[in-house]
Amino acid sequence: VEAARPAHWQTGRTDLLTDRRPVQLTGMGRLFMYDYDLLVVGSANADLVTVVERRPAAGETVLGSDLVVHPGGKGANQAVAAARLGARTALLARVGNDGHGRLLLDSMRDAGVDTVGVLVGGAPTGVALITVDPSGDNSIVVSPGANGRLSPEDIRAAGSLFQAARVVSAQLEIPLESVVEVVRNLSPEGRFVLNPSPPRPLPREVLAACDPLIVNEHEARVIAGADAELGDSPEDWAKTLLALGPRSVVITLGAEGALIAVRAGERVRVPSVPVEAVDTTGAGDAFTAALAWRLGAGESLAQAAGYAARVGAAAVTRPGAQDSFPTSQEVEALCC
Ligand code: ATP
Repeated sequence: VEAARPAHWQTGRTDLLTDRRPVQLTGMGRLFMYDYDLLVVGSANADLVTVVERRPAAGETVLGSDLVVHPGGKGANQAVAAARLGARTALLARVGNDGHGRLLLDSMRDAGVDTVGVLVGGAPTGVALITVDPSGDNSIVVSPGANGRLSPEDIRAAGSLFQAARVVSAQLEIPLESVVEVVRNLSPEGRFVLNPSPPRPLPREVLAACDPLIVNEHEARVIAGADAELGDSPEDWAKTLLALGPRSVVITLGAEGALIAVRAGERVRVPSVPVEAVDTTGAGDAFTAALAWRLGAGESLAQAAGYAARVGAAAVTRPGAQDSFPTSQEVEALCC
């Protein structure tokens, strides 16, 4: 089993924390052609939340409620969402050598995520400082910390993880040059799914690899560029985005469901599942993870988006992000 590990697992890198989970083997060789259904490349944050009566003015101090620490970051969220559904999932990320980093690693392992690709050190773990006022409005300061140090070299060093995964997904809470390196390290058959959040203009090399690019309206507008005539309908937005190079586009529309569009011209509206929404945080992450996983399982984009809409709907019925992600049994129980 040791000999079968991807090469970078044997390099003796001290910054690689490993689960030491054996690669699945039979006497004939690998049981699965791929070790992972999904490799997520992205951020891991500790979300520090306190409730305040009112926000402090400049120079002022106010008291908040007891601090609550939640695991977060779009990369970790998507990895946990996929693993909870039953996908064999690995995360390539960077956390600090500190208490928050250990908390994140523990929570990901508890959810079943393989953390072999989680690098440790270089900067403190990324943190989101969140104050919530009585009306429920958030003020958030993000300190990217170690997420900002996930470098192109780190991506290259983890090259064998890319060969071991059916699908690779990424977001934009890590340096853009590292996302470019992700695209350059995809295996020839590997499928790439990008949720460009937080959005920024992207090089054509990245856009051309997306299959699909998954965006909400705000992200669509930023990716299309300030000068672009995006049009009024999601069908118009998809047309504009497809012209930038992706093989397919998925527009998420909250309670309205989603639209899928492929270069060949197919457009399909994916209805949402009617639920009582409690908290929409993380719905996009749950949707993206589920869609990437189902695509890797061989479903069409329309089928995968239909399943992802059910996962997104299930996620909004519970508060929080990672806490709200459903198991596949819960998705089956949700509806039709
Ligand atoms: P966020 O950034 O808040 O995580 P997002 O804007 O990226 O989310 P949404 O469009 O809000 O993504 O949600 C993703 C998917 O989850 C939707 O396409 C839809 O299928 C499902 N969904 C979201 N909100 C609801 C809702 N209120 N009812 C039913 N399904 C929902």
